Amino acid sequence: MDDSEVSVNSMRENQIVKRRYYCKFCDETHSIEFNKDISKGQPRFPFSYVYVHIYTKNDEEKELLTILYLDNDCKIRGTDIKELNNSDIYSKTHVEAKIAALDEENQKLKEEIKRLKEELIQLRNK
Ligand SMILES: [Zn+2]
Repeated sequence: MDDSEVSVNSMRENQIVKRRYYCKFCDETHSIEFNKDISKGQPRFPFSYVYVHIYTKNDEEKELLTILYLDNDCKIRGTDIKELNNSDIYSKTHVEAKIAALDEENQKLKEEIKRLKEELIQLRNK
């Protein structure tokens, strides 16, 4: 490993933030790591970070749909944790997450079109 590799690695580590949140299902505080990059380009804050976390109850594995609301510093501002026990909830949530992602993409494209139009006007005026 040469010097440049070391600095790249430490830069990467600086991007990782560790946060904690209380989970009422497990009755404990979990810690979770985020790459700070995830807050970049978010149209609104707090933004939602969705993941499924597995916990064991009476020797049975349960899935917990966990939504963490993060600010631009990736600090957890709120949580929304639900037990997934039927496929309806699962698919509905997936559809909602998908729509939110598409909505964001749409917004970015609209901004890009607006920017390109402005650029075109400027070029024409030259
Ligand atoms: Zn938990």
